Amino acid sequence: MSSRPPTTSNASSLDQNKHHTTGPSIVLPPLGGNPSLTAAGTTPGSFANPADIGGPRSFSSPDTPGMPQPSTKTAWDFMPADWEQIDGKWTAPDGFEPITQLEHARLGLITPAMQRVSEREPHLTVSQVRDEVAAGRMVIPANRVHLAGKLDPMCIGRASRTKVNANMGASPLASNIEQEVEKLHWAEKWGSDTMMDLSTGGDLDATRNAIIKNSSLPVGTVPIYSMIMGRTIEDLDEKLILDQLEHQAAQGVDYFTIHAGVLREHLPLVNERLIGIVSRGGSMLAKWMLHHDAENPMYTLWDEICEVMRGYDVTFSIGDGLRPGGLADATDLAQLGELSVLGELTERAWRNGVQVMVEGPGHVPFDQIEFNMKLQRTLCHGAPFYVLGPLVTDVFPGYDHITSCIGATAAAYHGASMLCYVTPKEHLGLPKKDDVKQGCVAYRISAHAADVALGIPGTRDWDDELTKARAALNWEKHFELAFDTDLARAYHDEDLDVDTDFCAMCGHDWCSVRISKEIKQFFSGNDSEYAWDKPKVSAALSETQKQILQQRGVLSPAELHRLASKTKRSMEVDGEKAVCHSDLTESGEAQALQRESVPEPDSPATREIAEIQP
Ligand code: SF4
Repeated sequence: MSSRPPTTSNASSLDQNKHHTTGPSIVLPPLGGNPSLTAAGTTPGSFANPADIGGPRSFSSPDTPGMPQPSTKTAWDFMPADWEQIDGKWTAPDGFEPITQLEHARLGLITPAMQRVSEREPHLTVSQVRDEVAAGRMVIPANRVHLAGKLDPMCIGRASRTKVNANMGASPLASNIEQEVEKLHWAEKWGSDTMMDLSTGGDLDATRNAIIKNSSLPVGTVPIYSMIMGRTIEDLDEKLILDQLEHQAAQGVDYFTIHAGVLREHLPLVNERLIGIVSRGGSMLAKWMLHHDAENPMYTLWDEICEVMRGYDVTFSIGDGLRPGGLADATDLAQLGELSVLGELTERAWRNGVQVMVEGPGHVPFDQIEFNMKLQRTLCHGAPFYVLGPLVTDVFPGYDHITSCIGATAAAYHGASMLCYVTPKEHLGLPKKDDVKQGCVAYRISAHAADVALGIPGTRDWDDELTKARAALNWEKHFELAFDTDLARAYHDEDLDVDTDFCAMCGHDWCSVRISKEIKQFFSGNDSEYAWDKPKVSAALSETQKQILQQRGVLSPAELHRLASKTKRSMEVDGEKAVCHSDLTESGEAQALQRESVPEPDSPATREIAEIQP
């Protein structure tokens, strides 16, 4: 069911779109049908397509000429070989017990998880949720073990709001279980919809258990990390792969990233790249293939892997091992060759009854983002696209939550269903608690901006409420509606902690909002629901708000450098390079040096940093 009536034709849309002004009449171009100008509209002047829930476009941007068109197929075209279609209805073999959300949906059944999803996405009916899951355009990542625990089911798909994932995890150099659980709660607080435990250090099993036990969000992992702990990638074999997948599925992991699309035939294609293979899983599997002169074992084992995942309803997040790691490598033959294989793997997973989403790039110039999103929509038949960023420039390390959330907004507008956040620490180090917050906030902005632009019903209401509070100069409501209430209040009260009908930015005489409020026919500033009865003194700042103000500009560049030099103090340096640099030492020795020399998470040097971090 479409939530917005479609416009009848471009010509009639042109007529409706006339803006009558005292000057020349301005006519909006008929892109997308400008749905907002119809009764169920969203944003005046919107160019998004009318909603098409139940169709291949759902909420979508109009296609720039030349863009790949949606696939004419869905998961219904890739049914298990032993299912039969009788009188238009699919029937499973006798004795079949549905396990996954996809299998339930194919049989027309509504699960409690689907019910919960429709409550969390009020613009979707439960039947629409079921039908989108059956078509493969939506997933509900909900391992049956986690579902019996703390998991609050959610969905990922283009008919629903855009989702955000936060990556975290201990590394061999830093972090521990307690910190990881704390980061998880921090990500929940700052609006993450799913989280991935990407731990590569410490007790991986115990960390994963603690996270699943504490998480109301779906938890994803990259199981190859655990497969090679304590051994080298060359030792990887079929038994190790299937045993580890079974183990993590039984623990309750909701989705697995598996880099099965990197094939031997793709490896020569990366030779011309500036930065080769930047996916950890992709690079390890490439090394395995070269060492064994054999095909990617994740690819050759695909049907067996599906069987394990189906048993617990673990969702695939099919990894993009050949994603570009720099603008120069974007949309190259290696990346596109792998994407084509991801389409084939999607079809095979659907035949096995397993839910699928597909992972995407990476570093992509802004102008190539739409093509990348729409090509995936074609090759993977509308399976939800889960993208990292993409970063739209390479030259702002330290600000990559910003370079990437610009790309993420475009990606979501053009078809991505989930955005994997990037933190300011990207390319530089392990994110700490505040980096997690910065990444989550940046990506909530991207997801919300895209949802507003796509016209997902209800998404702009929040903006309108805040605009009304702003117009009425109702500071309390303004803070309350702000995504980060503490920050908004702290910044306001830094200069003026009393109610005024202006703020410190322009002052009384220059406050255009105050002047507009005085113009009686201007509606929202005089809205009685938002008006103040009398001036108010702002509530005192909370401890958090005080800390926010104290942290502003407290650290000089010299102090930052002093605190950042902890490793140099503890690790010998030969000229410019640390003694563990692979130019100077063999890899086994380098690992030992790293273990001995880099401060542990609770060392005095690390505590020194932690004390000054918010
Ligand atoms: S003083 Fe300036 S910034 Fe502040 S509310 Fe008025 S117009 Fe806005």
